[in-house]
Amino acid sequence: MKAAVVRDNLDGYVDIKDVQLRPIKPNEALVDVEYCGLCHTDLHVAQGDFGNTAGRVIGHEGVGRVTQIGADVTNLAVGDRVSIAWFFAGCGHCEYCLTGRETLCRNVENAGFNVDGAMAEQVIVKANYAVKVPEDLDPVAASSITCAGVTTYKALKVANIRPGQWVTIYGCGGLGNLAIQWAKNVFKAHVIAIDINDDKLATAKRIGADLTFNSKTADSGAWVQERIGGAHASVVTAVSQIAFNQAIDSVRAGARVVAVGLPKGAMEVAITKVVLDGIEIAGSLVGTRQDLAEAFQLTAEGDVHPIVATRRLDEVNTIIDEMKAGKIEGRMVVDFTK
Ligand SMILES: [Zn+2]
Ligand SMILES: [Zn+2]
Repeated sequence: MKAAVVRDNLDGYVDIKDVQLRPIKPNEALVDVEYCGLCHTDLHVAQGDFGNTAGRVIGHEGVGRVTQIGADVTNLAVGDRVSIAWFFAGCGHCEYCLTGRETLCRNVENAGFNVDGAMAEQVIVKANYAVKVPEDLDPVAASSITCAGVTTYKALKVANIRPGQWVTIYGCGGLGNLAIQWAKNVFKAHVIAIDINDDKLATAKRIGADLTFNSKTADSGAWVQERIGGAHASVVTAVSQIAFNQAIDSVRAGARVVAVGLPKGAMEVAITKVVLDGIEIAGSLVGTRQDLAEAFQLTAEGDVHPIVATRRLDEVNTIIDEMKAGKIEGRMVVDFTK
């Protein structure tokens, strides 16, 4: 079967190779991939940013049909549509796995990083960790929910935002546009979308942001304070250190700031602000299997609409170049069904 494999020289690109899969073991399932989105995380893997991943099959935004199940598999049947996400499997018995925080498992397996991923015609999954995709959900949209969708849905859960409250969303790209839709349509919050790109802010407005602000030359924190007296929560998807600092300035007392984007560097937080205003800062990493199942169901019900377009497997390196050049709106999804 064909797969997108990280090169030995870790130059940031992949080769499309013929790969022979081993036979499946008990508790595993074989999946024929239908669609797999390409994510910035795949680019980091392909250039060795997280360690030497030469020979690894990339891809963690996969959706496909089960074609074979191993002995002892009770939760999946041949024909089921399932997802292959970055959270591929936890150990199942540590304090994090046992307390609803499985993505923090210290022995986590991540698809397309330390186990072979879904940018391939076929992939072997651990049955207990493969989340089913509802049949009434478009599988191309589902591939985007597998990563960006569940990550932003979970971030808004962590933000603890209530209906009618204000949330600032920093960054309106692939993650941010979904965060805005969750915030508006599921959490019933008022949304202030903040970015440095007017096109992205126009999209943010179109998909439901109540207010938008371009922070390229102005301080969004001060503007939000003046406009609404500070937000009840903030979700930062921007890969920008400045955005994190402005997010803290944008909230009112008692608020929670949820960090999702991963820029290098440190956040600048005044200790007096944290103490005197009771500000909470929380990181949020993808989502659990239950979060993903909820995100799939809500998307099937029409609450969010991922921006997606399909491409061919042999275009992956072209897509990588387009992503690096910032030319892509939403997600490019490789179509394995043709
Ligand atoms: Zn991803
Ligand atoms: Zn664990």
